[in-house]
This record gives sequence, C-alpha cells and structure tokens, in this order.
Amino acid sequence: MRFSLFRAFSYLVGGLWTAWGGRKRIEARQLRNLRRLVEKVRRDSPLFQRLYADLRPSSEIELFDLPVTRKPELMAEFDNWLTIRSLPLDRAREHLRDIRKVGVPIRDVAVFQTSGTSGEPAVIVLSSSFIEYAYGIMLARFDRHTWKLIRKVRKLGVRVTITGGNGHFVGNGFSKLVQRLHPALARGFRLTFIEAEQPIDRLVDRLNAIANVSWIMTYPSVLTILVKEKEAGRLKIEPALFSTGGETLTDDLREQVRGAFPSLKYSILDPYGCTECPMLSFECSLDRKHVNEDWVIFEAVDEAMRPVPDGTLSATVLLTVLANDVQPFIRYDLGDCVRFYEDSCPCGSPFRSFQVEGRQATLVRVGEVMLSPLVFDLEHERARRIQLVQTSEREFEVRVEPVEGASAEVVFQEVIKSVKRVFRDNGLDDVAVQESEALPEFTASGKFHSVLPLRSGDARNGI
Ligand SMILES: [Zn+2]
Repeated sequence: MRFSLFRAFSYLVGGLWTAWGGRKRIEARQLRNLRRLVEKVRRDSPLFQRLYADLRPSSEIELFDLPVTRKPELMAEFDNWLTIRSLPLDRAREHLRDIRKVGVPIRDVAVFQTSGTSGEPAVIVLSSSFIEYAYGIMLARFDRHTWKLIRKVRKLGVRVTITGGNGHFVGNGFSKLVQRLHPALARGFRLTFIEAEQPIDRLVDRLNAIANVSWIMTYPSVLTILVKEKEAGRLKIEPALFSTGGETLTDDLREQVRGAFPSLKYSILDPYGCTECPMLSFECSLDRKHVNEDWVIFEAVDEAMRPVPDGTLSATVLLTVLANDVQPFIRYDLGDCVRFYEDSCPCGSPFRSFQVEGRQATLVRVGEVMLSPLVFDLEHERARRIQLVQTSEREFEVRVEPVEGASAEVVFQEVIKSVKRVFRDNGLDDVAVQESEALPEFTASGKFHSVLPLRSGDARNGI
C-alpha cells in the first residue's frame, strides 16, 4: 500500500476549489464522482453488476435510481462485493484475528472492523486513495480557528487516545496505518494509546502517570467516566482539549466536562464519522457538523427510505462514499438518526450541516414505547459504573461496579427504584427490574453503554 503525498495534495486543492465554487460546484462535483464510481462498480464488482443490471447508462445515472444496500446482504456476498478479487473474506478475517497486525495493510488495502454495536460486525476495506482523500480533505476543511487550536495544543504536551484495544478498530488503527505509510505525517504529535477496556483505577493511574496530557481523544461514554473520576479527585490530569467520536456527545456531557475540567481551553471537538467512512464530515468553529459533500452523500430518510425534509429527525441515514472504489458503499443504510439544519450555517460554509441524534441501536423498546437511554438516571455516588440491561422485552437487570469499599446493596435498591419510576411514568407498569451479579460490560470496541437494549434476535436471557 502506498500513500502519495501528491495525490493527497490534489484532494486538498480539489476540496478547496469545490468549496469556493459554492453549491453549484459541489453538486456538479458530487454527481461526476457518483457516476464515475457507478461505472467502476458495474465493471469490477460482480454484486453491483447484478444489482445495477437494469439501470440506465452510468453517464446518465441519478442517485435515486440506485437501490438501498444493507450490511447483512453485503457481508453475505463479501467476495463479490469488492472491486478487487485478491481479498476473500476468509483472508480478511484471518488478518483481523491477529491483534499484532492492527494498522498493517494487506497488499494495497487497509482492513478494519466495525464494533458491531448495531449487530454483526462488518469488515471494512479502505483503499490507498481513500487514505489520501481523508488527509487531503481534512486539511482542505480546517478553518483558521482549527489550525490555531491544533498548533497551540501540540505545544502544550501529549496527545492520548483512549479507545478499544481488543480489535482492528479505526480509532487506534488509522493512526498506526498512517504512521506506517508516511512517518513524517504522524511526526510532531507524541501519541500515547490507552486501552479503554481496563478497570477504571488502572486507567486513572496510567493517565496520572503521564506528565502533561494536553489532548484526549475518546468515546463520550469513556469521557463520562473521566468526568466522574476528576470530580472525585482521583484523576489529576489537566488537558486543554478533548475530542470525541464513535458515539453521540450530548450537550449535558459537554457542560459536565467544562465544569469538571477548568483547564479546558477550547470546546470539545466532536467530528462525526464511522468505520465505513472515517472522514465523513468536519466540524466548524460554531460546533456544527458539515458533510464533505463532494466525496460523501448523506441522505436523511424515513423508515420507507424516502427523504425527510430538513429539520426533521430521520429514521436512518443512507451513506454513499465516493472516495472508496475498492469496497463500494452506495446508499448504504447506516442506522443513525440525523437531522439536517434548515438554514445555512453562519460560519459561511457552503456544505450542508446536520445534528446526530444517536444510534438507533441504543434506543430501548418496550412494546410500542421507545425510550432514550438518557431518561434513566444511572449515576450513584457509591458506584463507579451502572448498567441497565434489557434481557427480554419486559425484563431488565441492573449491573453495578461499586466504588472501593462500598456495598452494592444500597445502589441496587435506589437505582432499581428510579428505573421503575421511569417505566411507570411512561405507562409501563409491568416491567421487571432485577439485580444482577454480573459486572457492567463493554462493547467489543471498548465503548461503555450505560443502557444495553435488547437487539432483535438477541438472547441475553440466562447469560
Ligand atoms: Zn458551520
């Protein structure tokens, strides 16, 4: 796999040129990129050749001609999905099983896995042109504010990434890959990686042992834990900047972080991306997320896959990645709920902006009632972590990791009482909530979800 600085530079220049041309130039560029990708996948992906067999010529194709694609169907036909024949699924899985190979490319491509929080983990294949796109477009979309901020934070100290260490996740794998492909690009940032899955006291000790932590990149769920540890006086670090990803960052958590870390000089960076497309959007100085529309198409749709108007919360979102021609994601059902802003952003960017309302998979469903995980109060002074797990449609269990020396008994009583009250307030009187001896569990990628809803086909009962 080769990383060409020249090609990354052309993505940068092209990205600037497109932005200067406003909406008209962005839309023209997007359509040109789409038609080129459609032509390529019709030629080189047996699966898309079949899917697109009856469509009009690629040079006349419009987005709405193309069928929606979904992860389970694509994964089932992985060997026919890619536009290369040299990476069968068996080979990719074998690579992913070897933890020493995180960030190591296989020939011309890099391979990652999704965390599988919304079901079966997918195998994601990124081409070298995608990595060049990611770097070029990231630089093209930085505004003066971001450049200044990064320069300052670099001078202050060490950047720490706290993400899942038990797999080939993009969170830690992407920077390892770039380090391997182009060491000069990775230089200048002293980067320390800490595994999110370890016990909290060890995590706190490791952070406290680093002399000057200036920037922490992690999941919002881990950030919640850091806030708690800082408030309790156990965590000593004084970072200037946080950046988050992988989960929804709520305004509440932003507030708590500001309160707990007075050393914070800047707001929290929260760019939105996914393993399928790490550089999907960029965040402007007004904290809005803008889609990189020249290379990404992001459609907010309802349950029947029809577009929803701006300002309306979508049932899911369809992702088209125009910069990855090895593993085509075209009108791919991503499962996130988003809402596009109705007005253009006061920052002046011509790219459309949106809000993310969280992963569908994290919503709790009981009969016809759907609850956000945020309605449950799963905090207790005597517990480090509390988790509410749905074991069947109307049965839940509470898992507790008590603080040192504390008994879980009181925590169980009070939490179960408050959880039951939430259900009652929502008209659900017949929901059972029980104590569990199990400890709160992490997702495969090291994220912590304080509420684990039942997934379809799931059988958590008896575990
Ligand atoms: Zn903006």
